[in-house]
Amino acid sequence: MAAETTTQNLTDGFHLVIDALKLNDIKTIYHVPGIPVTDLGRLAQASGLRVISFRHEQNAGYAASIAGYLTQKPGVCLTVSAPGFLNGLNALAHATTNCFPMILISGSSEREIVDLQQGDYEEMDQLAVAKSLCKAAFRVLHAQDIGIGVARAIRAACSGRPGGVYLDLPAKLLGQAMDADLGAKSLVKVIDPAPAYIPAPASITRALDLLKSAKKPLIILGKGAAYAQADADIKSLVETSGIPYLPMSMAKGLLPDNHPQSASAARSTVLKEADVVMLIGARLNWLLSHGKGKTWGAPGSQKFIHIDIDPKEMDSNVEIAAPVVGDIASCVAALLKGMGNSWPKAPEAWTSVVREKANGNIAKMAPRLQNNNVPMDFHGALGALKRIVQERPDVILVNEGANTLDFARSIIDIYQPRKRLDVGTWGIMGIGMGYAVAAAVETGKPVLAVEGDSAFGFSGMEIETICRYKLPVCIVVFNNGGIYRGTDKNPTGGDDVAPTVFVKDARYDQMMAAFGGIGVYATSPDELSRAVKEAIASGKPTLVNAVIDENAGTESGRIGNLNPQSVVGKKA
Ligand code: ADP
Ligand code: MG
Repeated sequence: MAAETTTQNLTDGFHLVIDALKLNDIKTIYHVPGIPVTDLGRLAQASGLRVISFRHEQNAGYAASIAGYLTQKPGVCLTVSAPGFLNGLNALAHATTNCFPMILISGSSEREIVDLQQGDYEEMDQLAVAKSLCKAAFRVLHAQDIGIGVARAIRAACSGRPGGVYLDLPAKLLGQAMDADLGAKSLVKVIDPAPAYIPAPASITRALDLLKSAKKPLIILGKGAAYAQADADIKSLVETSGIPYLPMSMAKGLLPDNHPQSASAARSTVLKEADVVMLIGARLNWLLSHGKGKTWGAPGSQKFIHIDIDPKEMDSNVEIAAPVVGDIASCVAALLKGMGNSWPKAPEAWTSVVREKANGNIAKMAPRLQNNNVPMDFHGALGALKRIVQERPDVILVNEGANTLDFARSIIDIYQPRKRLDVGTWGIMGIGMGYAVAAAVETGKPVLAVEGDSAFGFSGMEIETICRYKLPVCIVVFNNGGIYRGTDKNPTGGDDVAPTVFVKDARYDQMMAAFGGIGVYATSPDELSRAVKEAIASGKPTLVNAVIDENAGTESGRIGNLNPQSVVGKKA
């Protein structure tokens, strides 16, 4: 009896970690089990947390990163030591780069042995490795510090510019016991993890004065604006001002893409001709040609208003005439207030030019999206998917690839905020299945993952995960038999195929069937359309192998210009 009483009054590292996460409303852990965290996953599930177990840590990490984006709470990824940790790091760096709140929790080996480099099981100084790839990194050595460690990780991930945080939990910590009452008292519920960051009133006046003076104003919405969940105010700002707006890819749907003020189909015109550009949660990085060069107007002819939570983002590429530093919700609310009820609409001379240009381009594109060619081209296949998303605007679109990404971004309209999840700031391949899993788990909405065949390969094994958890995910693999296209030849005439070419007629659909999901082989837009509609209606895990002409597609999609060219030998 005495022994039992003692046990009842004790807690340990495992339970304190779980209790700390639960106290802070973390509901899901994206995970790959193994030493020393296998029991942490088991106990987390036993305690009512949802534990989604993946086949590879990179995918679990990407899932956590996008969970953070979708919910404004840190997505949690739990990995084993050294190799598992390293696999998760890619996603941690990705979360940091994309400003998504995420915590990578990793088990690690014994400090005494690691620090003396005595060759422990999976020995690695993980904290040191993680530091340069995330916003903050912490290690907890004592059970009584777990509450503070988790609290610091949550605050660091969510506050200011969100990002990735590393939390190192050595194996010995997890088994450490302490008095249960003291343990419970050591936990911290983080109050207001992302405090409002109110912009200086003078910065709002400065921005509005500049905006009012504009003859050709433009608003650019980035994924920071989508993250902020200030949807109604952003819509109201755009509509009250009457200014044409350009959504960056993950900001599509903040206002419906068929909105009359959308300048997406007139992108090159507005970037070149606008005289005042207001950036809301979008960086002037490579995706916007750094705000200068031939994409933009003559140097000095364009002035920028930049709304961002990170003051260091100002002047990062060009001079910012009106920096507005604060959280987007507060900034946009302050701008709206400053605009009042009689704000003049953007000049008609400008808005009508933009609208005409956009309508012209949309009309030019329309017939290509109706084709029912066999083999399919990108336009025929994406036209079919575009019509499906129009009917089901609640579907979350995950998208990666080269041509598959570039064409889908411009062809598939998005109608609701945070419904398009893609390769983000780095333009990485591999986010697909991790994102699809998290999008389904976090929102309960149907997910449509539109994947290049190469892109799909990076996370394809997770279709087993999708089947195992019975997630409402429909994957469409745009199978053109290779990277960019399937037609490259080995110039030596040797037996190996070219480095960009895959197995001909690969049957990705049969992979899905192998795990009990539904696999469909589709050769025409009509077949594709039928299969995807059925998948969305049934909610059953489905993979549609969409056979695309192997000649369709261009090198690196629309960013072929980033490829260095050899000065001595031309490509074969
Ligand atoms: P995109 O690629 O869509 O242009 P970026 O990732 O380049 O978007 O930019 C997002 C920006 O949004 C980052 O500079 C980030 O600091 C900012 N940001 C993210 N969340 C918020 C927020 N809640 N308030 C203000 N700025 C934010
Ligand atoms: Mg391909």
